[in-house]
Amino acid sequence: MNNEAKKVWEEMLVLLETEINILSYDVWIKTLEPLALHDGKLILVAPSEWGKNEANARFMPLIKAALQRVTSLFTSVEIICDSEREKFSSREETYEIVEEPIVTAPEPLSINLKYNFENFVVGKSNQLAVAAARAVAEEPGVRYNPLFIYGGAGLGKTHLMHAIGNSIRSSHPKYKIMFTSSEKFVNELVRYIGRDKDGPSFRDKYRNVDVLMVDDIQFISGKPSTMEEIFHTFNELYDSNKQLVFTSDRPPKGIPDIDERLRTRFEWGFTADIQPPDLETRIAILRKKAQLQKYNISMDVLAFMAECISSNVREMEGLLNKVILFSQLNHAQPSIDLVKEAINDYSAKSEGEINADDIVDATCKCYNVRREDLLGKRKSKDIVEPRQICIYVMTEMLDLPLKAIGDIFGGRDHTTIMYTRDKVAQMLNQPKIVEAINNVKNMVYKK
Ligand code: ADP
Ligand code: MG
Repeated sequence: MNNEAKKVWEEMLVLLETEINILSYDVWIKTLEPLALHDGKLILVAPSEWGKNEANARFMPLIKAALQRVTSLFTSVEIICDSEREKFSSREETYEIVEEPIVTAPEPLSINLKYNFENFVVGKSNQLAVAAARAVAEEPGVRYNPLFIYGGAGLGKTHLMHAIGNSIRSSHPKYKIMFTSSEKFVNELVRYIGRDKDGPSFRDKYRNVDVLMVDDIQFISGKPSTMEEIFHTFNELYDSNKQLVFTSDRPPKGIPDIDERLRTRFEWGFTADIQPPDLETRIAILRKKAQLQKYNISMDVLAFMAECISSNVREMEGLLNKVILFSQLNHAQPSIDLVKEAINDYSAKSEGEINADDIVDATCKCYNVRREDLLGKRKSKDIVEPRQICIYVMTEMLDLPLKAIGDIFGGRDHTTIMYTRDKVAQMLNQPKIVEAINNVKNMVYKK
């Protein structure tokens, strides 16, 4: 088995496990074996012809999406069955071969289907941004180019960006849509620069698209080579009337340390901000989110929740998920009391005496893993989950800046910590995850 293939596959499994129901995951996904990276493709072996067909028919889009999130070097996956193994094993590849530039059309798979216009609630706080986003989705590259959306954390910037992508994908199926974050962009660039100074394939990858969307562009601040690359990519796409969309937590003027030429370009098109939603909109958002989970929650309970959390929709959603979970565990309808209980669960934050070390220790105990592994770089599955949970609990219980948490975890970037936190937050509707988080917290208190 090729080591690189194994590494990539292990990381993909972590993602796939959260997206596929556990039974299907065990039967159809976990049984696949990574054989090799071949011609830019990841080759997976299914134990039988049946397994191959099922995996191909039912899970290929998810598998491809996972691959895309884990690495950008390989954009395709092929599933073979055991008897076809021979074809590939004689040509076992090393990583060097794969490192040749592989120019493949980016697939729009990293777009999150969950985020569309239909389930985005429009209110005063975001109506301008939504109108601009819709205009861009209707006629990409024609008006509002670039579209620059900015606003505070958890207010729906990423959601809107994916909504644009999803909408363009259905109205212009042939369009190549590239969705990236500035963190991913930076990481890829660093990898390419390390290998090949001209980075031709890197350039082609980003410049052969019809729509380029970069999430959280503020993180390019102070990174000159990334800015340079974005600058050229911007010019090329803009000149050929390709649509550009950026999001940021602040307006172009507020991003420190960026190239002036780039800043003015961000302002060339349309800049729209998203403000925190008013009470009415918050209630509407909660109602929509509950409906999406097929849950009916009475108006007074929704209103109570909306009063409790005012500025961050992500947190509001976290509370809703917790309330739903509590109501399932207690076999009770969501009520104001349940909401209070769920909120109490958060308030450990202010107790103050807990420090990062306590949380690291507690996680190690709960999962029976070693501290060096937890804080280190290993990416095998048995260590990735505890690490993610540990990071999430830290962001919940401590008032530490993300950068400080990154430092604890072997100097990881604060954007990585943010990404992990958000990812776990999105999984709070899974009892398994909530239980893991609670176990760690309980262990912290036991110390
Ligand atoms: P940001 O990128 O601004 O930090 P996200 O786009 O990740 O925020 O949004 C956080 C969560 O809140 C997502 O689950 C998103 O669906 C939800 N959300 C934010 N605003 C709205 C809205 N107006 N309607 C529906 N959901 C929303
Ligand atoms: Mg975001």
